Amino acid sequence: MRWDNLAETPASSGSAALFGTSAVTTRTFDTPEFRGITFHEVRARSILNRVPGASRMPFEWTVNPYRGCSHACVYCFARKTHSYLDLDTGIGFDSQIVVKINAPELLRRQLASRQWQGAHIAMGTNVDCYQRAEGRYRLMPGIISALRDHANPFSILTKGTLILRDLDLLRQAAEVTEVGVSVSVGFTDRELWRTVEPGTPSPERRLDAVRTLTDHGIGCGVLMAPVIPFLGDRPDQLRATVRAIAEAGATSVTPLVLHLRPGAREWFMAWLREHHPHLVARYERLYAEGAYAPRWYQRRITRHVHELAAEFGIGPSSRPGGHRRLPVRGEPGTAPADEPTQLTLL
Ligand code: SF4
Repeated sequence: MRWDNLAETPASSGSAALFGTSAVTTRTFDTPEFRGITFHEVRARSILNRVPGASRMPFEWTVNPYRGCSHACVYCFARKTHSYLDLDTGIGFDSQIVVKINAPELLRRQLASRQWQGAHIAMGTNVDCYQRAEGRYRLMPGIISALRDHANPFSILTKGTLILRDLDLLRQAAEVTEVGVSVSVGFTDRELWRTVEPGTPSPERRLDAVRTLTDHGIGCGVLMAPVIPFLGDRPDQLRATVRAIAEAGATSVTPLVLHLRPGAREWFMAWLREHHPHLVARYERLYAEGAYAPRWYQRRITRHVHELAAEFGIGPSSRPGGHRRLPVRGEPGTAPADEPTQLTLL
């Protein structure tokens, strides 16, 4: 049954499967940070997910202790994965959070298996593993400890400043294996942040986290994503963002233009109609061919950001010190759009 296993593939069972199995415990908490959020605690059968089409992906394995994300980014294209569980991809994605409560022990067991070859494991590839739920469930310390104890290389992509809680563990892991951390900051415009990424720490706080990580020896890259057309792509906005990223001491900056896949597209366009109705027609033209902005537009943004990065002295993406840049969807070699294990614009 899908809810016992929670593989990264579409569910065939109905929502009755979610609420009808003893593997699921549903909880709500009264504290302000969790108001309106429902947690579905499950005991997963497997926690290591093999990425379909791995030969074209820069990594083969992922660990995702959560499904759904209270960071609630309007553009998040992991939204569609909630439909695999027969959950709503809009508000439901933001507020119905699946928690794989046995993730640490399961990972430790799977890492100890004779069949496991010690491949790199990417985290934050579907939803944010340092979203608010992590403050309560504390799954990541156990996960990082297991990876450290098995000297298993890994990377984390996040918008959550909660990662700083685990700084000591990350440092311990980095002493025995390759550890890559990337933080996602697509823009520094506060008005845009408040409306489009309402559940996330502010861009400033995220960049403070980059600085702290780097100061403590954990080289940290920034995924500058998403660059949002007509709202976050003015030259002065790009300049301010790259400058702030450089000042935070990021080891690299990787720009990625917004893409709007099914599930995210409907939600984003509804938001656009409400907040920026004058842009709807321009978006329909820009994304007329599908989920991605035209190549000329992507190239223009990438070139501009790279020029700014050079100007502000941000180095190449691969640096000494154990940092490994987390590859992102949309770059050459990443999975096609309809594969179930997805990289989100964290
Ligand atoms: S983009 Fe990332 S941080 Fe934002 S809602 Fe999706 S998974 Fe969470």
